Amino acid sequence: MRAVVTGGAGFLGSHLCEALIARGDEVVCLDNFLTGDPANVAHLMEQPGFRLVRADVTDYVHVAGPVDLVLHFASPASPIDYLRVPIETLKVGSIGTLHALGLAREKSARFVLASTSEVYGDPEIHPQPESYWGHVNPVGPRGVYDEAKRFAEALTLAYRHTHDVNTGIVRIFNTFGPRMRPDDGRAIPNFIRQALAGEPVTVAGDGKQTRSICYVDDLVRAILAMAGSSESGPINIGNPHEIAMLDLARWIIELTASDSDVVHIERPVDDPTVRQPDTMLAARLLGWSPEIPVEEGLRRTIAWFREQDERHAFTEPP
Ligand code: NAD
Ligand code: UDP
Repeated sequence: MRAVVTGGAGFLGSHLCEALIARGDEVVCLDNFLTGDPANVAHLMEQPGFRLVRADVTDYVHVAGPVDLVLHFASPASPIDYLRVPIETLKVGSIGTLHALGLAREKSARFVLASTSEVYGDPEIHPQPESYWGHVNPVGPRGVYDEAKRFAEALTLAYRHTHDVNTGIVRIFNTFGPRMRPDDGRAIPNFIRQALAGEPVTVAGDGKQTRSICYVDDLVRAILAMAGSSESGPINIGNPHEIAMLDLARWIIELTASDSDVVHIERPVDDPTVRQPDTMLAARLLGWSPEIPVEEGLRRTIAWFREQDERHAFTEPP
């Protein structure tokens, strides 16, 4: 198998590249490093089957030779990232998806779109099944991400129906693990970085809003299952383990044995109040369900953040 991973130098993309290489596939990783980092795939550079190409998928994408699989993961994903680069976010979700689909069509490859639970917006149905149309504010600040992904889903289905491309859509719920940038602004890396530094842990609003959090290894298994199937989706991928942000902050403080306090900061506009995947379709169609308990995932992620701190302390001049 020869796979192209767009956004392959990002958090999820780098784990996917690693898993594909580990099972013996060849991988072409396309990334413009907008929010990713070549360091995330540096350990793969010695592998003969791995190629990293600096490319912007909103430009025409050309890959020489056969391609069996296109995993389209390029897009800023953290709210502070996509609010910083709103136009790039809309472009990669629209024009970038068009090019990634064009590549899959040209090569007769299976195509998997990384969509998101954000297509449900601030949901009025809980938990969210794939049949729910969502509650998105198109002109709110998060609209640049949510609407780009909703457009990407529509375009993916248009390519399936018009050009017979073997497409699949996964709606990914909050996923965490090693290689999240400590400054990427999402709750889990923020809380871990702050707790490890003994700084106040910043909880937005009263912290009663919930998310359901999935460890990255479970997510990777799901994406490989989707890639190996011919399911069209959309299929929710996430761990139904739902937790309020205040409880998550306290849990991370406890797991890091930190003496940080919690401070409350302003809640972002249109911040969803609840979020939990209905994962029945993933179980039935892909035989997938998450296996790694959230506490185990948090422990592994904290250990990785600690290692990064130690490495930087060792390499930075005094
Ligand atoms: P990330 O920011 O770590 O990775 C995104 C990668 O895409 C980065 O390496 C970035 O440089 C690259 N990129 C952005 N624009 C590009 C362009 N025009 N051309 C080439 N590369 C480009 O984010 P992530 O958390 O790894 O998310 C990856 C994908 O999964 C995104 O599509 C995101 O919407 C989706 N997703 C992630 C989550 C999650 O919890 N992590 C949840 C839902 C959906
Ligand atoms: N959040 C928080 N403190 C932070 C960062 C985020 O309380 O330092 C909250 C945020 O307002 C949201 C939840 O944590 O309610 C999850 O935010 P994240 O950015 O991780 O994911 P998303 O909102 O995209 O699901």
